[in-house]
Amino acid sequence: MRAAVLKAPGLLELDDLPDPTVPKGGALLEVNACAVCGTDVKMKEQGHRNLAYPRILGHEIMGRIAMLDGQIPYLNEGDLVQIWPGIACGRCRFCLRGKDSHCESLKIMGFNCDGGLAELMALPAENLSGGMNLLPRNIDPALAALSEPLACCLNGQEQAPVYRGDIVLILGGGPIGALHALLAELHGAENVIIAETLPERIRLLKRHTSAVVIDPSEEKIKAVLASETDERGADVILTATPKIPIDNDLLHLLSPGGRICVFSGPAFGHYEEKIDVRHIHYKEITINGAYGCTSRQNRSAVGLLTSGLIKPDWLITMRTSLEGFDEAFTHSAQRQGMRSVICQS
Ligand SMILES: [Zn+2]
Ligand SMILES: [Zn+2]
Repeated sequence: MRAAVLKAPGLLELDDLPDPTVPKGGALLEVNACAVCGTDVKMKEQGHRNLAYPRILGHEIMGRIAMLDGQIPYLNEGDLVQIWPGIACGRCRFCLRGKDSHCESLKIMGFNCDGGLAELMALPAENLSGGMNLLPRNIDPALAALSEPLACCLNGQEQAPVYRGDIVLILGGGPIGALHALLAELHGAENVIIAETLPERIRLLKRHTSAVVIDPSEEKIKAVLASETDERGADVILTATPKIPIDNDLLHLLSPGGRICVFSGPAFGHYEEKIDVRHIHYKEITINGAYGCTSRQNRSAVGLLTSGLIKPDWLITMRTSLEGFDEAFTHSAQRQGMRSVICQS
């Protein structure tokens, strides 16, 4: 089979590899779609703390069950499925509390085991029991591949909940900021404000969301927030770019009881800030992190996409084949559009 293999930072190549075998009690997946996310680009360029080489990248995956090892109730060869990219033990204290993204022996596809930028994938038995979601036959494969990033946003908005009538400020209007906006609207936000500097992304956001989109290089976020909210400030701030430091200026944009979700991994130099703890105390501010998603959140995201409650098809701004992986990474790295998806169906 062919696969996009990362051999070292900066060295991603399309290789011909032996087909994987079906794991005991597991399945072989024929990958139909795998989206390229900002983390994949970062891994390609700089490596990642969870990465071991050589590695087949890709963690936003859907495909068709090509082969099963033995009988698995309710799952048949030919079924279309979306994959939660975690492989969790199901028995540790985190798994038993429903937080399998913190599993003590967690492996993540595309990071510390092989991912979906390949023609075929071996899915272990653990993944079949909790990390796989059946899809309807008429689903757009590329759209189904967006379940995982949507699930990560669901995680972010569980850590920093958006309630009916809230004012939500999203810093960064790429695919993640856009998914956060759609989700915040679904959760009943009264006003969603997105700060984004790239003109094409601003255009797409204005067309497909009801958010107020501002360019912080032209307008001050603080001034827009004050005029849009009658000086109330934001109830929730979600970071969807690594470029914004979590500092006192950001804290002071929050209304009392406000929540900040540190969703994007902060860029170098932006993760050790002095924070006004008195402000946190008196205004009852909450700061939370969010990284990845649980299998439960992944399942909920599939439900939101297949039911049409969230419609992010406009975020797919490039579809290409496995041979076009380089273009797909460039599309993502240059941030011209939104998401690029490798489609093989
Ligand atoms: Zn991702
Ligand atoms: Zn576990």
